[in-house]
Amino acid sequence: MADCIFCKIANKEIPATVVYEDEQVLAFKDLEPQAPVHVLVIPKKHVASIAELKAEDKELAAHILVDVIPQIAREQKIDQSGFRVVANTGDEGGQTVKHLHFHLLGGRSMQWPPG
Ligand code: 5GP
Ligand code: ZN
Repeated sequence: MADCIFCKIANKEIPATVVYEDEQVLAFKDLEPQAPVHVLVIPKKHVASIAELKAEDKELAAHILVDVIPQIAREQKIDQSGFRVVANTGDEGGQTVKHLHFHLLGGRSMQWPPG
């Protein structure tokens, strides 16, 4: 999608520190990390948010949650200590980039509730 920063990262038009890539998914370090490990996991195809996922995206969403995020957590060595997965959705959800992304955060203790 034109003017989508994460589409541009997925298309390698904007550089990012990539930690995982396959045909459908890219994961890269957040520009402003909020924890020692802060990775963004995105589908390469443009989906605006969880609210915009369609039935046809089920396999992709499951791939991200079942395969990709746990694998990155293992590689980043936060699978044993614990981690947080966040998908800010829409304006009140605090979503600033309107391309679906899962924050994978770890390496420190997290607080609850979020702000
Ligand atoms: P949101 O607020 O939409 O949930 O999260 C957007 C995240 O994207 C923020 O944590 C922000 O730091 C990150 N971000 C925004 N622009 C870029 C960029 O160009 N490169 C990278 N690596 N991260 C970005
Ligand atoms: Zn996009």
